[in-house]
Amino acid sequence: MRAEALALAAAEGDEYESLLAAASVLRDRSKGKVVTFSPKIFVPLTNLCRDFCGYCTFRKAPDEPGAKTMTIDEVLRVVGQGKALGCTEVLFSLGDKPEAIYPEMKDFLAREGYQRTLSYLYEACRAVLEETELLPHSNPGVMGKADLQRLKEVNVSMGLMLENISDRLMLAGGPHFNAPDKKPAVRLRTMEEAGKLRIPFTTGILIGIGETWEERIDSLFAIRELHQRYGHIQEVIVQNFRAKPDIPMRDHPNASYDDMLKTIALARLIFGGNMNIQAPPNLTPEKYELYLNAGINDWGGVSPLTPDFINPEAPWPALQTLKQKSAEAGFDLKARLPIYPEFIAQAEKFLHPSLFSYVERLGDAGGLVKGGGPLGSMPSIHCSDSSAI
Ligand code: SF4
Repeated sequence: MRAEALALAAAEGDEYESLLAAASVLRDRSKGKVVTFSPKIFVPLTNLCRDFCGYCTFRKAPDEPGAKTMTIDEVLRVVGQGKALGCTEVLFSLGDKPEAIYPEMKDFLAREGYQRTLSYLYEACRAVLEETELLPHSNPGVMGKADLQRLKEVNVSMGLMLENISDRLMLAGGPHFNAPDKKPAVRLRTMEEAGKLRIPFTTGILIGIGETWEERIDSLFAIRELHQRYGHIQEVIVQNFRAKPDIPMRDHPNASYDDMLKTIALARLIFGGNMNIQAPPNLTPEKYELYLNAGINDWGGVSPLTPDFINPEAPWPALQTLKQKSAEAGFDLKARLPIYPEFIAQAEKFLHPSLFSYVERLGDAGGLVKGGGPLGSMPSIHCSDSSAI
């Protein structure tokens, strides 16, 4: 299978078209002509981080302009605004263990009554649940078993991008040099612990950061292997690197559009029809709808309120536009919760019992957002025939 995938990665012309078509057919058989997204509020709890990834524009040192750790009051304020717009997911995305290198973060945490960022995150998630009844999904970097276990009490799902399986990318000059939390074995360990703890888990790969096709494909197989053991991977993201003027990799070329399409199609073939395969629409604003041609069935979290703090130069598409473009490609856009319907259906196995009522309150009978969330108030759009793509 690895050899086949590698051969397909070199496909061109008719073979390339056949690869995309095979991925689309596989997606259609399991998912039909529905594409989902999660209406979310993006909460960058802190942008301080102990790692220095070459492609990151999110991280800040405490003395840099824009460095920020949110208070819980600030979190609740923005979540309240998102709730009014119909959002259901609260994505906590933050830097990894900033207190390990920054005394300023240690002081902030001490003032708030905590020693570790992950304990503070737990409190923020708990406050969001209790005060707003929206659903936290945290993405705080590498975690140990005890942290995962505790955070599961207040998160309906969690995430950690594998990025790539290659240790080579950690060498001097590579994107993960001086980023200890990007060590593949460490990330795989977090994902494995999440599997043992039955946490619905989002992961994925970042393409175009200097990896080879072999490394890209091996990364997908590594995720598949974990999913085969624990059944907890709820979605696989294929994300494209984009150069930005303020990052060390500013002169590195963007991931190519063809590479994105091929990687999405290979991910679909490697994971099969049932996996949720996601690609972000805002990182290819000019033609993201063609990702539907390569086998995705999800656009990920899209916010009608907050920017993509990881890619601040790339605004989310307006939901009306996303709906229109999906419909023109033959797909019905639907809002989902941060835990996918197939995992809600196995709530006894995958969800902490204290969260059942929160999910029931927001989910419909099919496990999607009751009333359509922010889509509920929009005029309906009729899908074209998929041959119009
Ligand atoms: S990508 Fe994540 S881990 Fe790397 S520097 Fe940025 S915030 Fe830190």
